[in-house]
Amino acid sequence: MTQQNRQWRLRARPDAVAKESDFELHSEPMPVPEDGQFLARTRLLSFEPAMRGWMEDRPNYIPPVGLGDVMRGIAVSEVVESRVEGYAPGDLVTGMTGWQEFSVGGAGTRRLDPGTDPKAILSVLGLTGMTAYFGLLEVGAAKEGDTVVVSGAAGATGSVVGQIARVKGCRVVGIAGGPEKCRWLTEEARFDAAIDYKNEDIGERLSALCPEGIDVFFDNVGGAALDAALARIARGARVVICGAVERYSMSELPPGPANYINLMIQRARMEGFVVLDHAARFGEATAALEGWVKSGDLVWQVDIQKGFENVPKTLLRLYTGANQGKQLLEV
Ligand code: NAP
Repeated sequence: MTQQNRQWRLRARPDAVAKESDFELHSEPMPVPEDGQFLARTRLLSFEPAMRGWMEDRPNYIPPVGLGDVMRGIAVSEVVESRVEGYAPGDLVTGMTGWQEFSVGGAGTRRLDPGTDPKAILSVLGLTGMTAYFGLLEVGAAKEGDTVVVSGAAGATGSVVGQIARVKGCRVVGIAGGPEKCRWLTEEARFDAAIDYKNEDIGERLSALCPEGIDVFFDNVGGAALDAALARIARGARVVICGAVERYSMSELPPGPANYINLMIQRARMEGFVVLDHAARFGEATAALEGWVKSGDLVWQVDIQKGFENVPKTLLRLYTGANQGKQLLEV
């Protein structure tokens, strides 16, 4: 019997919270590499909160995934057969190969250097780390002495943002869900303070912890956290819109933040960004992040689920906060 390639395809567009039934498991014959191609087996899949946006048919920074198409996703895969120079069985490669067990690739696919940790490539040394680096230092222009507040702080991106800010001499406050995530932030990631938004009033705590106001608010969440931060920005503050995970489970877009007028009063700016626009400088960010990991200044966490059958379930963990660090799955 021909070996099969299992795939998770998009069956329905989410109307509010994404559901397992928005995806269907499909099986088709394994692809056969042609001259100039290699066949690779997916080893490790990466999950991004933005995937909920990719499932929707509305304007975004990349086109929506088509109904019936293999769900888009970044992975590390292992070459199992090669008909292209420069790639040999056993090599690890990475790219946007989607939710499937096998894929074909060709010259130009990124090959990992031997000894590279695939988990790091999909998190702290991958797009997650790049997002934190450029969002905080370029868009947020964080500098020594600033008070930096991060929402989604215990997540993959937020935790790196806060630690870079600490290394740069900022005072760092993180907002995260639950006592364990807040403990991790202050004890292991060495944030100055953490606010447990599930059990504490964000506004009251921000007022107490940032009496001089917030210089940089790095927002992964939107909604109540954004509004509370806007009410407390300092003169010349930078509000960085990285993501809005709170809205990823809503069918209707919520009204904008009530406190936006503070941007005018405080001569502040609010700016969104897409990490891919900084690709030309990824080398610089990688070198800096590698250095901080090596020196122990930057700790990182991954949350690894297992089994191809659990792929849709694993995505949903991001929207309930079940993940503790970068969400990955070993296929
Ligand atoms: P992550 O933070 O590791 O995981 C998502 C976290 O969001 C969850 O662990 C949960 O943490 C929090 N969350 C979920 N639902 C929430 C809600 N209703 N209210 C408040 N918090 C909620 O994921 P990530 O990959 O690092 O992504 C973080 C953000 O960065 C996302 O908004 C993503 O879209 C954005 N991003 C942007 C770019 C860019 O180029 N702009 C690139 C990559 C990622 P708690 O347990 O603390 O609630």
